[in-house]
Amino acid sequence: MSGAKLNVVVTGGAGFIGSHLCDRLIQRGHRVVCVDNLYTGTFDNIRPLMNHPAFQFIEHDVRDELKMRGPVDRIYNLACPASPRHYQRDPIGTLRTCVLGASSVLELARQKEARVLQASTSEVYGDPEVHPQPESYVGHVNPIGPRACYDEGKRSAETLFFDYHRLYGLPIKVARIFNTYGPRMVENDGRIISNFVVQALKGEPITIYGDGTQTRSFCYIDDLLTGLELLMESDKKITGPCNLGNPNEQPIKNIARLILQQTGSRSKIEHHPLPQDDPKRRQPVITKARDLLGWQPGVPLERGLRATIDYFSLKLVTREVLPAAVRVRSNGRVLPRNGSQRNGHRAQSL
Ligand code: NAD
Ligand code: UDP
Repeated sequence: MSGAKLNVVVTGGAGFIGSHLCDRLIQRGHRVVCVDNLYTGTFDNIRPLMNHPAFQFIEHDVRDELKMRGPVDRIYNLACPASPRHYQRDPIGTLRTCVLGASSVLELARQKEARVLQASTSEVYGDPEVHPQPESYVGHVNPIGPRACYDEGKRSAETLFFDYHRLYGLPIKVARIFNTYGPRMVENDGRIISNFVVQALKGEPITIYGDGTQTRSFCYIDDLLTGLELLMESDKKITGPCNLGNPNEQPIKNIARLILQQTGSRSKIEHHPLPQDDPKRRQPVITKARDLLGWQPGVPLERGLRATIDYFSLKLVTREVLPAAVRVRSNGRVLPRNGSQRNGHRAQSL
């Protein structure tokens, strides 16, 4: 990766993946502007960066035009709720975030002559009829189901990216991210790893939807970040779409078993109905990422789960032990309990 110091914008930078990406970009010496409306992201995720001279947080909704002073070299567009629970809470808002958000970052990229990367998703393949999924597979999405706001939104965003590329020659990168996990996942976002880990640690029932034979392939956050960076910095002619994920496919019931083993929890398994349109199988073909980027994931599931369990254990213990006053006070201001705050870093600094 090049050693040049870049001006990088990360939309959705206060979320799970975005905040890790901001950390990494700052560590590399880049200047980072994090743009987020704190819909699912939290101020806690970026708090350690707030005093860093090369980091700026702007509270802004990407559905609105994105204006910025000064040079911009790279834009990572991550702004969008990622868990079914959150993206279905405001489906129209989700679809608008995908489409208008893509439009905002593409316009900014055009103005600034910046390179722009879209965080797309394996959900563009829907409930796939081709297995495993190569990038050439065009997908099997129900356009009117409860997941469509996200799936079709992300598909439309890809369309916009490629049309800007074809019409204006904009340097684009489209990453199709498969299920990613690790520290800083949101505790109550309903995703499988955060749900099972928290349930196991609290001794609550592990909620398997359906019979647990549906599969997913889980990629640890550090591996994903390396893939995103390599794609962003790859040769200009590489646009993607490029799958980024771990091909280690697992039935959901195995994930429950592994987490029970690793936590030593005696939680019982409880079966719940399978959500509508829940994909039955998902596994990335990563030949393209291997050949074009020299990327492949290296963190085994057991090791990634250990780090994630450690993170949630600490989070739960800290919440039990620390008095509320210690947690909610920062710079003399009272923060909401979820750790997000409206702190004056608002859109006017755009
Ligand atoms: P996340 O919910 O933790 O982060 C999303 C961030 O975007 C949050 O900080 C949220 O506040 C912000 N956001 C949402 N709507 C916004 C808006 N209108 N304006 C500004 N900010 C907004 O999710 P994540 O897991 O970090 O996912 C990041 C990106 O990666 C998303 O685009 C998601 O679709 C994509 N992705 C994630 C996964 C995964 O497994 N985590 C898989 C595939 C794709
Ligand atoms: N799932 C489950 N129990 C839970 C949460 C999720 O069995 O408590 C299942 C869900 O039905 C899906 C898989 O785990 O088959 C992955 O769900 P998640 O929401 O994490 O990701 P996505 O469905 O978007 O891949």
